[in-house]
Amino acid sequence: MADSLGEIMTERKKIIVVGAGAAGMMAAGQAALSGAETILLEKMARPGMKLAITGKGRCNLTNIAPIPEFIGHFGRNGRFLRQAFHRFFNDDLILFFESKGLLLTKERGGRVFPTKGKAQQVVKVFVDWLDKCGVKVKYNSAVTELLVTENGVAGVVCNGKRIAADAVILSTGGACYPATGSTGDGYPMAQQLGHSVVTVRPALVPLVTKGGARKMADLNLRNIGVRLIIDGKKAAEGFGEVTFANYGVTGPVILTLSAVAVDALQTQKKVELILDLKPALDDKKLDARLLRDFAKRDKETIASILRGLLPREMVEVCLEEIEVPADRVGHSVTAVERKKLRHWLKNFRITVIDHRPLKEAIVTAGGVTLAEVNPRTMESQKVKNLFFTGELLDLQADTGGYNLQAAFSTGWLAGNCAAIGTVVE
Ligand SMILES: Cc1cc2nc3c(=O)[nH]c(=O)nc-3n(C[C@H](O)[C@H](O)[C@H](O)COP(=O)(O)OP(=O)(O)OC[C@H]3O[C@@H](n4cnc5c(N)ncnc54)[C@H](O)[C@@H]3O)c2cc1C
Repeated sequence: MADSLGEIMTERKKIIVVGAGAAGMMAAGQAALSGAETILLEKMARPGMKLAITGKGRCNLTNIAPIPEFIGHFGRNGRFLRQAFHRFFNDDLILFFESKGLLLTKERGGRVFPTKGKAQQVVKVFVDWLDKCGVKVKYNSAVTELLVTENGVAGVVCNGKRIAADAVILSTGGACYPATGSTGDGYPMAQQLGHSVVTVRPALVPLVTKGGARKMADLNLRNIGVRLIIDGKKAAEGFGEVTFANYGVTGPVILTLSAVAVDALQTQKKVELILDLKPALDDKKLDARLLRDFAKRDKETIASILRGLLPREMVEVCLEEIEVPADRVGHSVTAVERKKLRHWLKNFRITVIDHRPLKEAIVTAGGVTLAEVNPRTMESQKVKNLFFTGELLDLQADTGGYNLQAAFSTGWLAGNCAAIGTVVE
């Protein structure tokens, strides 16, 4: 990673970065280090408000997965990030933070967090660094319009005033968690300059269900197999943690499957989840376990025996769905009822009727069309000297630190390229 490319600058450019989120702060610092006079305009009173709540306040800032695997977490659009990742990737990001005194720790699944577990520290590193780089940061500064001439972008309108610039980096983020400042402002600005925007919709979003699942609010289950069924066919699957809520289901596996579920719901398809509550036991082992439990505790009620297999909140739902009375005693459970129970434990079916709104999504799917942005520089293919970064682009990934790395990498590339034209290898 090159921290400064300023020595090869020939004349000082003026660059405006819009949005002091993950991508915008990285872009602004890099532009300044590369010799540009850089102004960072943020509409909120503080920088990095979303960054400060990431990873449940701990900030999962990247993942140690190698580039091909990393890109795979972005689905089909991931290829767009190849160039940006080749220029500035997870090892560069780790070095970036550690060289500024922020200790990092690798956790389960290759996720990287600040060792002290505080996302706010990440924001502080940026604030100090931007100051050192000489970036002029202006808060309470909302950009409402981009100014253009026949030569490309020429500045912005901020708080009703025109500010001229040689290049503008748009880092306004997506449209979820709007209280953090990310209210989708960049989409109409891009559209006004001729860019197309892929329909904005929630990704990594909880799902609304009907039926029994809602009775289990706050229940958290680990090591669960989940299949996503669309119009009767398996569309995706996952394994891990599922959390029940009074509206439906959430948790890492559900969030990961949600993007596919949202698209199916929007086209009026039937969406179901099938939970395997006993993934470690195949049908034979599970039957042996049930036979043993029913024989050993033959005078107890089935409700009480099932407490050895399921959390309390699930027992009632289970018995209701397999239609066995809760007071049936162990020795009188029939082979047919046991089969129904076995099937339920391996195939707890939940109907998904909706998703939670965009404002509750962790990431915004859709955004500025990637085919209209140069992946080597992040510059618009339509308007010269206009650059796009981060979640504003039509990119979204699974949980695991991938989204923030994409914001940092695209910000890094845009900052350097806006300042010097191209990045020298
Ligand atoms: C609850 C939550 C937890 C998350 N946890 C993780 C995680 O642990 N790991 C991970 O990889 N990803 C995580 N994400 C996703 C990640 O935070 C985003 O993908 C990332 O922040 C996108 O960065 P960005 O710079 O593109 O946009 P943002 O971080 O959203 O920043 C955009 C900035 O632009 C400003 N802005 C907007 N419009 C204007 C305007 N008109 N004028 C001036 N300023 C403007 C906003 O105020 C904001 O500060 C999480 C998201 C949420 C909501």
